[in-house]
This record gives sequence, structure tokens and C-alpha cells, in this order.
Amino acid sequence: MEKKIKAIFNEKFGKEPEMYASAGRINLIGEHTDYNGGYVFPGAIDKVIMAAILPNGTDTVKVYSVDINEEAEFGLREEDAPKQQWARYIFGVCREIIKRGGTVKGFDAVFAGNVPLGAGLSSSAALESCFAYALNDLFNGNTIDKFELARIGQSTEHNYCGVNCGIMDQFASVFGKKDHLMRLDCRSMEFEYFPFKIDGYKLVLLDSKVKHALVDSPYNKRRQSCERVAKMLGVETLRDATMEALNAARGELTAEDYFRAKFVIEEKQRVLDVCDALQRGDCETVGRKMYETHNGLSKDYEVSCEELDFLNDIARECGVTGSRIMGGGFGGCTINLVKDSLYEPFIATAKKEFKKKYGHEPVEIPVVISDGARKLS
Ligand code: ADP
Ligand code: MG
Repeated sequence: MEKKIKAIFNEKFGKEPEMYASAGRINLIGEHTDYNGGYVFPGAIDKVIMAAILPNGTDTVKVYSVDINEEAEFGLREEDAPKQQWARYIFGVCREIIKRGGTVKGFDAVFAGNVPLGAGLSSSAALESCFAYALNDLFNGNTIDKFELARIGQSTEHNYCGVNCGIMDQFASVFGKKDHLMRLDCRSMEFEYFPFKIDGYKLVLLDSKVKHALVDSPYNKRRQSCERVAKMLGVETLRDATMEALNAARGELTAEDYFRAKFVIEEKQRVLDVCDALQRGDCETVGRKMYETHNGLSKDYEVSCEELDFLNDIARECGVTGSRIMGGGFGGCTINLVKDSLYEPFIATAKKEFKKKYGHEPVEIPVVISDGARKLS
């Protein structure tokens, strides 16, 4: 991919570019915890966005998207926003750097990627962090710190793409490190790297390709439940609640609110348990916790759906070590931790059985934990 992008840049602009890349991400465990001040546990993956970039000495940005086969040209003032959605991610990153007092001048760029779009692997964060990293290097002498690069991507989603996302995706994409996951504390924003050594196992996503559009916003309803219970227990967020306190207050809560909060409190502990297990090299415990998360998301938090529960059941039946829904729910992917020897039969069975029931195969996306945003030599 690197060679191809470079060659297209040479052809279009007749110069030698600088090369940058950034990655999509998975989240091993820690779902619906971010807005409750809890932990998430993401890592960058071997699916990337790669860009060839060079300042062009003008006030204009010229970008070519290889995958969409389209060119965009825009200035750097607020009113210069391009029409194409994909170009708005890049424009947004430029604007957010400028708004923070950083420098961005005209540049030429060619980019391509292999992060599946809209599959829950955050191709948009990969795109933002690739350009944020590059523009920091090319125009700002790397003076913008990495957390700010993540915030620049997040603000781009908020202000230029209409997506009101948290910080996890951009954080993971910017800070990702090969063979490491990062436990991010969403209350303090502190984080820690944990080695992710899973010799003998593989990580694979199965994209169900279903996305249930729901009438009312279940996401907001879940948030409201969490906020209600936190208030009742006298804590700022459920991060500071315990199962003892929740059980003591059970009589005053609706059953629905009780089970929502129960999931969040248990999920916080599961992230900590998974980190401990990884430090012992205990993949079996990691996998068990993943199944527990799936159950909690399905039964207590009620954000699963028939198709994802079906994939989870197949994983269990095939002896897969761990499996759960990844992401907000109601469709998308499961993430699976599978022994090498079971990988082929599991994937074959999942594809066959799922197709028999739902008419199409889930898409297999094997992932390896890899580096995030970086300059390529
Ligand atoms: P995801 O869950 O993958 O982040 P989003 O809808 O948030 O899904 O972002 C996908 C959008 O990001 C695409 O519609 C496109 O505008 C942009 N994008 C991602 N990858 C590429 C790519 N390789 N080439 C061009 N645009 C891309
Ligand atoms: Mg996205």
C-alpha cells in the first residue's frame, strides 16, 4: 500500500512526499463504561490509513482519496469546508489545529486505507489521527502533545462530521502500540499500557453486517438510567458505585435501572480482572470475562440483538475462548479470542450457520494489535 500511495503522489504532484500512517482499533473489554467514568481497554490494529503528504507553499489543500477515487481541494478558513464527507474529516483536523493556535498551511496529499468502513473499527479515527499526526510533524515541529491530537480528532467528529463521540477511538488510534492494549480511565484520563501477548490464540471480529435502526434513542435511555442511579446512590458517576450500595438501594429503583447499573458496575471490575489475567498470561480468564460481558450486554443492558446473540452462541459451541459484542450494540461485530487450532473450524461454522439462518455470511476480520499514528521511514 505504501509504495502504491507514494507512486500515485509522485505521478500527481511530481515530488517525494513524507509518509504517515495510523490505525483502526478494537476494544477488548469495557463497554458502555466511558460515559460512566469507568475504564475502556482498546488497542490499535493492523488495519490502517496511510497518507503521502507534502507542504505545497500555497494556502490550498489538495487531497486525493485512492479508495473513493475522488479529489478534493479546499482552503483553510472556516467557510472553505469541502462538500465530500471524507474530505471533511481532513478539513476538520486542519481547522481544529488552527483553532488551538497551531499552524497548518497548504499541502498536497494522497491517502488510502484498509480499515473496513463503518464496521466498528473506527476508520474515521484512523483517518483523523493520520492527518493530525502528519500536520503536527510537518507544520508544528511535533509540539502538539499526543492527547491533544486525539482531542483534535474527536472535535473534528463533533464539529465537522456530526458524530458526538467519546475520546476512546482517537485515543487508541494515536497512542496504539504493537502488542499492547491501553487501559484508559475515563474519569481521570490517565492510561496504562498492558502487554497483549496471546501466543497460541488469535483475535478475530465477525461483522454481522446488520445494524438495527431503532425508533427512540436507546443510547440516551441507557445514559439516563445510569445517571438516575448514580444520583440516587449519591455518586458522581457509576464508577464510584458498588454492588453493595446498588443492592441496598434496589427497592427504590425500577428493575430496568437496577440491571443497567448492575452491568456497568460489574463491567468496571471485569476490565480490571482482564488486565490482571493478561499480566499472568491467563487467556482463559480473559475469554471468560468476554462472555460475561456479552451476557451482561444482552440480558442486563439489553443492547444486543438476535444475530449477535446467535454468533455468540456459535462461538461458545465451537469452544472459542472468549466472544462478545463489540461497540454500542444493536448490530455490528463480535470480537472473538480463539485458539489457533479452533480458528478455521469456528470461522467455517459461523459463516455456514449464520448464512443458513440470516441469508448472508458474517465477514471475518482477523486483527493483530499494532502501532497507532506514526511516520513511516
Ligand atoms: P467507522 O466506524 O469506520 O469510523 P464512520 O462512519 O465513523 O465509520 O467513518 C467512515 C467514514 O470515514 C467514511 O464514510 C469516509 O468518509 C471516511 N473514511 C474512512 N476510511 C476511508 C478511506 N480509506 N478512504 C476515504 N475515506 C475514508
Ligand atoms: Mg467513526
